[in-house]
Amino acid sequence: MALFKKKQYIKLNPSPIVQEDNQPKPSVPNNLWEKCPSCKKIIYTKDLGPTKTCQNCGYCFRLSCRDRLFMTVDEGSFEEWDTDIVPVNPIGFPDYQEKVKQTQAKTGLHEAVMTGQALIEDQPVVIAVMDSQFIMGSMGHVVGEKITRAFERARDLNLPVVIFTASGGARMQEGIISLMQMAKISAAVKRHSESGLLYITVLTDPTTGGVTASFAMQGDIILAEPQATIGFAGRRVIEQTIRQELPEEFQKAEFLLEKGFVDKIVERHELRRTLAHLLAFHQGGPSV
Ligand SMILES: [Zn+2]
Repeated sequence: MALFKKKQYIKLNPSPIVQEDNQPKPSVPNNLWEKCPSCKKIIYTKDLGPTKTCQNCGYCFRLSCRDRLFMTVDEGSFEEWDTDIVPVNPIGFPDYQEKVKQTQAKTGLHEAVMTGQALIEDQPVVIAVMDSQFIMGSMGHVVGEKITRAFERARDLNLPVVIFTASGGARMQEGIISLMQMAKISAAVKRHSESGLLYITVLTDPTTGGVTASFAMQGDIILAEPQATIGFAGRRVIEQTIRQELPEEFQKAEFLLEKGFVDKIVERHELRRTLAHLLAFHQGGPSV
């Protein structure tokens, strides 16, 4: 049994670090460098500029919805709607409500989308902006309800709708309830469209799953940011299903433009201007 006897080691206490002087230790500040997810280049954060765009490949870094609104609408014109819809746990998914509360505290957001009314170069518009920081911008019942109400109110006010999408798809923690949002929003989009009103979508990185399969692709005009990933199922899932290798640029905005799914790719610094042009062009609402 001696073979299995535990050896006796001498315990060493770590010696305390002796500070020769009381000078603080040198430290490197965080967030000085960013790696571009598209071209993998390491970039000095300040070089991304106010539009947070990679100077090497044109990739547009993900934005919070507040930054996006700041960049898009006239200063002080945004009036937020429907912040009182309380997220619930419709199928009793374990720890879901806790996760929502933690994300709310971390991001300062109510849910994965902000909706409201604003001006873009003095033109009134109903706007919805999704935020991928909030549980991957996934669409649960609150997101679905907020977007549906935005379309309904836009119809009452005779206003166009602009939506910036950024989403991993339907929120799996809400099961079938999350999938039902696709149909609910689609019905509201249809009613808005039947009133002769304009709907513009701007697809940003990433726009996938149930959001792509519903309102992201239902815009009268579909814009996208350069290099944005846009798709339904993930690349690996498709490759395994069809047993074929997909092209490198598959599910990129440029590939979708080539195939006719996207109308125009717009550089981030030109987005506000482009939206203003399109809104002015369609001003006056329905031509009945
Ligand atoms: Zn890049």
